[in-house]
Amino acid sequence: MLNADLDTTIEFLKGVGPKRAEVLQKELGIYTYADLLGFYPFRYIDRTRFYKVSELDPELPYVQILGRITGKETIGEKHKKRIVARLTDETGTIELVWFQSLKWVEENIMRGKVYIAFGKPTVFNGSFSISHPELEPYPRPATVTGNLTLQPVYNSTEKLKKFSIDSKGIQKLQALVITSCLSEVRETLPAYILEKYKLISRKEALLHIHFPADSKMLQHAQRRLKFEELFFIQLQLLANKQFRELKFKGHRFCLVGNYVHTFYQDILPFELTNAQKRVIKEIRTDTQRGIQMNRLVQGDVGSGKTVVALMSMLLANDNGFQACMMAPTEILARQHYHSIFELVGDQLIRVAILTGTTTKKQRTLLHAQLEAGEIDILIGTHALIEDKVVFKNLGLVVIDEQHRFGVEQRAKLWRKNAVPPHILVMTATPIPRTLAMTIYGDLDVSVIDELPAGRKPIDTRHLYEGQRLRMFGFMKTEIAKGRQVYVVYPLIKESEKLDLLHLEAGIEQMRYQFPLPDYQISIVHGKMPNADKQFEMDRFITGKTQIMVATTVIEVGVNVPNASVMIIENAERFGLSQLHQLRGRVGRGAEQSFCILMSGNKLSKEGRKRLETMVRTNNGFEISEIDLELRGPGDLSGTQQSGVLDLKLADLVKDQQILQEARNTVIDIFQQDPLLTLPENALLKRFTDKKNRGIALDKIS
Ligand code: ADP
Ligand code: MG
Repeated sequence: MLNADLDTTIEFLKGVGPKRAEVLQKELGIYTYADLLGFYPFRYIDRTRFYKVSELDPELPYVQILGRITGKETIGEKHKKRIVARLTDETGTIELVWFQSLKWVEENIMRGKVYIAFGKPTVFNGSFSISHPELEPYPRPATVTGNLTLQPVYNSTEKLKKFSIDSKGIQKLQALVITSCLSEVRETLPAYILEKYKLISRKEALLHIHFPADSKMLQHAQRRLKFEELFFIQLQLLANKQFRELKFKGHRFCLVGNYVHTFYQDILPFELTNAQKRVIKEIRTDTQRGIQMNRLVQGDVGSGKTVVALMSMLLANDNGFQACMMAPTEILARQHYHSIFELVGDQLIRVAILTGTTTKKQRTLLHAQLEAGEIDILIGTHALIEDKVVFKNLGLVVIDEQHRFGVEQRAKLWRKNAVPPHILVMTATPIPRTLAMTIYGDLDVSVIDELPAGRKPIDTRHLYEGQRLRMFGFMKTEIAKGRQVYVVYPLIKESEKLDLLHLEAGIEQMRYQFPLPDYQISIVHGKMPNADKQFEMDRFITGKTQIMVATTVIEVGVNVPNASVMIIENAERFGLSQLHQLRGRVGRGAEQSFCILMSGNKLSKEGRKRLETMVRTNNGFEISEIDLELRGPGDLSGTQQSGVLDLKLADLVKDQQILQEARNTVIDIFQQDPLLTLPENALLKRFTDKKNRGIALDKIS
């Protein structure tokens, strides 16, 4: 897609030059004309609408008012010096105020003349004013870009503004590029796709995204460019998947043998849910194809992912392969190890654990056993990835809580066998469908959307600080019934010291409410050495302590069925998905469980919505959708390192339909033309070839 003119360095655009070019590069990543064209307005101002002074309201965003300057004076001294003018229409008068560019205003704004003033109205002492309005003489003079009914607004920065590259300045540059090079813009989408989805050409779209003829053309331009953006992400994701599937053979797990049978018939202490059965079936199908499996299992906390993982690992064992399971923290790895060892260790298979705290001596032994094939299932942390860890025949890797591991780490696991092992990724962070399509678009996705029977929904309440004694009273009642309680405090880097003080003050208060020797409190926070954490966790797990005070280190995966109360302090400071994760620590036993969200009296609108949502629903998928709406995709856990979410135009909340269309289109294309050899797909083939040279394929093998 080389366009001679569009690839010109931005420096050579009229009025730019080396200095401004450097700032454009540094601040906005704009190197070439094409980059500039790809820098879209972030909103538009409707310049067809004029407000009357009497209609003004402080809630209004930017408005334009047509009126005559009826007064102008300079007041104040030195840095307080300012010009105040009066703009009058037939309904009233407002003040216009300037603190800067006084000389210009002095010379150019004339008393008695009619202007269009444009800016954000604010109210002071009952009258309206606009500071630093844009003023245009009326009627507007005709210009190249003039008479736009929808005026584009571009993001700019302080630095850029110093070089007069504000929104208006960017608009001028866009006009130059469009005038000189629009004809160079090439189409990127095949004609049949444009036709099918009634999309305008790329050329037209770029013109109207910067200089919309009207709102209808703007909509067409946006739709076209959003589609393109999402389409190429999907094309890349699905091309990766496609190529991977063509390139990598997979171990065939055709046999359901002694391990799976014995486990299922003699050991499994409960009936699997339908969702668990369905997912296991999906995994069975995947692992018989002779193609490497890459499957994500999404399931709410407590939906029973561990059993699914275990049965998959036993399936690998039945077929003569080893399996491993990797967890993001030591605590979790141990917990998995214990629960799995309790079920199948000793009697059925050989399970081992490897973490950062495994001693050198144990490690040496373990390495030898692994290589000799004397270990069937290895559970551990990142330690599993190290090159020294060599398997005899690794057939399946289960990764718990995917988002903590990067692509690079995943790839390292693949290399542990000549034929890469099947990969099963588990995440307890339900993510919205659109997000899954984007972040995990190259994986197959299974959903465990059903909790084991007999689970009572967690009863969630929101209490204010003033109701704290009620909360303590409730804790006492529940502890008296033999239950255990979590109390979680926020701890974030930015306010770490203060947070730790809160935690300590909270513990003081609790010690007073719950005196020894009747009550024992475990304390776990991120600043403690691992061994201490483990010790405190163990005391809680074994029921020696009734209360576990913790920061969010307990967030993922910890399982103590007897703990039935979760108290979250400063709940308004947690994100929705994090709150949901925390709540998932309870409700794991047969007892009715409770979650109490403590907050101060003052809540932001968003904070209130989060707490309300938590009280209203237990459904993780629903919560994730609301979280996406509230925060946007960039802040959702799991999205940080994906990199695919730097969307320029498309919005994963608002543009779900376009995303679905784009994805379906790509799926159809690969179904009909897996290698993109048809002439009508030539454009797409060039794109994937170019992309794939640098990524996944070569790295992975
Ligand atoms: P998660 O999906 O959060 O990892 P776990 O696998 O830890 O959930 O399961 C939570 C609890 O539910 C465990 O105590 C587990 O033994 C139990 N469990 C899992 N599946 C079932 C089932 N089908 N019926 C009853 N209990 C189940
Ligand atoms: Mg789990």
